[in-house]
Amino acid sequence: MMKTGITKAPDTAADSAPRVLEDLIHQAERANASDIHLQMIGETARVAFRLDGLMTPAMELPEAVAERVFGRIKFLARLKTYQESLPQDGRIDKSFVGAQNDIRVATYPTVTGEKIVLRLFAQSNAPVLRELELPEGVCVELEHFLRGTSGLLLLTGPAGSGKTTTIYSCLRYLTELGGRHMITVEDPVEQIIPGIMQTEVNEARGLDFACAARHLLRQDPQVLVIGEIRDDQTANLAIRAGLTGHLVISTLHAGSCKGVFERLLVMCRDHYAVWSAVELVLNQRLVRRVCHACNGAGCADCLQTGYRGRVPAVEWLRVDDALRRKVREQGLDSIVPAQPLEFAARRVLQQGITNQTEFDRIFNP
Ligand SMILES: [Zn+2]
Repeated sequence: MMKTGITKAPDTAADSAPRVLEDLIHQAERANASDIHLQMIGETARVAFRLDGLMTPAMELPEAVAERVFGRIKFLARLKTYQESLPQDGRIDKSFVGAQNDIRVATYPTVTGEKIVLRLFAQSNAPVLRELELPEGVCVELEHFLRGTSGLLLLTGPAGSGKTTTIYSCLRYLTELGGRHMITVEDPVEQIIPGIMQTEVNEARGLDFACAARHLLRQDPQVLVIGEIRDDQTANLAIRAGLTGHLVISTLHAGSCKGVFERLLVMCRDHYAVWSAVELVLNQRLVRRVCHACNGAGCADCLQTGYRGRVPAVEWLRVDDALRRKVREQGLDSIVPAQPLEFAARRVLQQGITNQTEFDRIFNP
């Protein structure tokens, strides 16, 4: 956790739980936080915002206030207010708290007391590709791929590296091109994009990515987004779909562009199909942007973190005949992205968009 100016909420009788909760949500929205964490520890509840991916302490609530706020959250999310020993999930309608979007609620019992996470769904519109601030080369490659009619685009990077946002921006680009039947299977759907058939996996009912993708291909999509390739079945389905006249977009856990192929070639026996289907691989991270208002010193706008907002650092690999030949002759070690990740991030650093501390946090931990 980073050191910030923690404010203590006043513990007065006039302080009603509805107002404390609404203030908290509005403050988090103003700061562009993605989540609010409330954790009972002893006699207080610690409140932290997840801001640009990192936990940032925001406030402490005295026990009496915290109890009422926790109760209020559960009431609004239609959860059992007396239930503290089992996890519960729900949703708060935005109109109940004057929020910009609905809020997902998850409670969990911990050894020090109950923990509640409020997930704020950020802006409802995915940014257009050109607003993502991707390197120009990546934008050109993405647009080229998206104008095509078949092949596979794979994104990799750790959780919270902006893969989903990039995919949503790709979908927005495709809806603007128009004229194509597009289907997604996600876990979960994070944003509704008009004009696209969006579905969710439901592992509890046996509907995993492989099963969903197999059925959805019968719905005759021209564009298919598979949230994540986690197993051989999904990998083979995605490859086959990409080879048979579908534009397929998916993600895969790997640390690098080369790592994507290392995993795929283990999951798919037909290596020739892998090399024919995959057209473009992106490996991305998000780098925090130094706060404009205070130039990194820390201010109210950035909740004393010195950062506000993030920019992507991306390396990309276009699979063409030259690369296929090179890999055939020299093996996987010959895979070198057009612009390695560190190089991309170093440019963000040189442009003064981020600072050395943030660069080191990501690349020299
Ligand atoms: Zn600031």
